[in-house]
Amino acid sequence: MNKAKSVASFFKNVILSLMLIFLLGTTFHGVFSGENFGGSQYHLEPSGHSVKNVIILMGDGFSAGHVATTRWYKGSNLALDEMFCGAIRTYTAESIVTDSAPAATAFACGYKTSDKFLGILPDTVTIPYVDKPSEEERMKPIASVLEGARFVGKSTGLVATSQIQHASPAGFSAHWPDRGNYNEICEQMVYQNLDVVFGGGKKYLLPESKKGTRTDGEDMLQILKEKGYDFIETRDELIAQKKPKVWGMFADNDMSYEMDRQTFHPEQPSLAEMTEKAIELLSKNKKGFFLFVEGSKIDWASHANDPIGVISDMLAYDDAVRVALDFAAKDKRTLVMGFADHGNGGMTIGSTATDATYSKMEPEELLASLKKAKLTGEGIQLMLGDERTPEKIKEVVEKYYGIANLSEEEIAQIQNSKQELNYELGPMMSKRAHIGWTTFGHTGEDLFLFAYGPNRPVGMIDNTEVAYITAESLGFELPYIDQLLFNEAESFAEKIGATLTIDKTDEKNLTLVLSKGEMLVKLPISKDLLIWNDKTYQLNGLTVLAPKTNRVYITQSAIDLVADIFEE
Ligand SMILES: [Zn+2]
Repeated sequence: MNKAKSVASFFKNVILSLMLIFLLGTTFHGVFSGENFGGSQYHLEPSGHSVKNVIILMGDGFSAGHVATTRWYKGSNLALDEMFCGAIRTYTAESIVTDSAPAATAFACGYKTSDKFLGILPDTVTIPYVDKPSEEERMKPIASVLEGARFVGKSTGLVATSQIQHASPAGFSAHWPDRGNYNEICEQMVYQNLDVVFGGGKKYLLPESKKGTRTDGEDMLQILKEKGYDFIETRDELIAQKKPKVWGMFADNDMSYEMDRQTFHPEQPSLAEMTEKAIELLSKNKKGFFLFVEGSKIDWASHANDPIGVISDMLAYDDAVRVALDFAAKDKRTLVMGFADHGNGGMTIGSTATDATYSKMEPEELLASLKKAKLTGEGIQLMLGDERTPEKIKEVVEKYYGIANLSEEEIAQIQNSKQELNYELGPMMSKRAHIGWTTFGHTGEDLFLFAYGPNRPVGMIDNTEVAYITAESLGFELPYIDQLLFNEAESFAEKIGATLTIDKTDEKNLTLVLSKGEMLVKLPISKDLLIWNDKTYQLNGLTVLAPKTNRVYITQSAIDLVADIFEE
């Protein structure tokens, strides 16, 4: 077959596939949860409008206590309150308490998976009600709703206040068994051809020679520029941004807590500002968009049991929810969903100190100290710097954290602390505000579900059902996107009589090599490229390595191209 013709037939196949997705999409209903404690417990509320856009706003690590405390602090209803519609269950394939990576995989891909896994099927399955994958499917990459949205022509965006490579946004945009490998995750994100990316994490784009962390020598910032992205780094640039193809990295790592932002990083935008700009840019696509937004550091404050950090970023998260709600109210074709990925800390109003007094608890008992704080525990650490004299500690904690009566022991504890100071200050504030905590880790209770717009789920959902509700709303089926994206390369090679090797000459930049006779094509791992005869073709998805099984997965577009090339 001649090359021009084969490329044309390849695109014809893509168009036919897309038409099929739309047809399938209209008949699919949310029936996934058969194995999860006996079937769906929710229904989708029709509104007379079809869904064009889906916005998911996740607050990392909050539950009912966080919401109620934040509402008391604000003194009026939250935007979230207007969207309350049910509850969400959160267990993983191997734990009844989840971490952010398997939770994000559940929301994005519709499967329970193992700890630390992003966008791949589980290895170990120990929890009843969770299906164990076959040996062939173990740790196989699985399509996300973000990838599905891209296949049906929608724009896609990620927004977070942590580094963007952190587990929750990574679950929507990467396929890797280790949430800690920011370099690999970042590379996959860059080659996912997202439209809008806002958050922290600039250093994971850059090679070590440019003060980055990348050990593979690649400069992802340069690649973004070659791909035609604008790259911005400040709030002013965000506000001025017009082109809907942009990466905004506003910190090397995580961004500031909202309460600390004006003091330490006024050049950073708020979560609400990033959300507003993302919606403005993504909604330029007439076919619609999918956007995932995360209030990331609610989780970090909860790990530290710092109620000020919780309130700071719960309010920032709620402001972002308000922005999405306002857009959806006008647009009428946007489904907005809000939830947390897991509980954290076991935060409660009332503690063992209120065992005998809780029935006469005035708002002031909760709020008096909380209201005096001007910075979070993390902000206090920044304000103190290395100068931890008792005088300075007393002064800074009183002025900025609202505690005027630190005891001698507490001062010594702060002075001699070997951990981040929010872990010391948080419990001191909590004691004064009668806030209880049960753990510095995650918790496994059911969480609130918030949603607004056409197709909103009402009832009790499993976290995996978020993926199926999103896919159904946007008009595609995830198993079909799976077929378009992730085909095991070895069995394809066998079928066409080709040889498969993984070229490890450059051990930080592995390449899949398929050869037959004189012909040889290369597919770099974690990129969307196929190289043949010094020509580079862009595929419509990533080439993904499953490092433990050593299997490689390639897109249907790669299969079609290779088959055509080897047919010559
Ligand atoms: Zn956490």
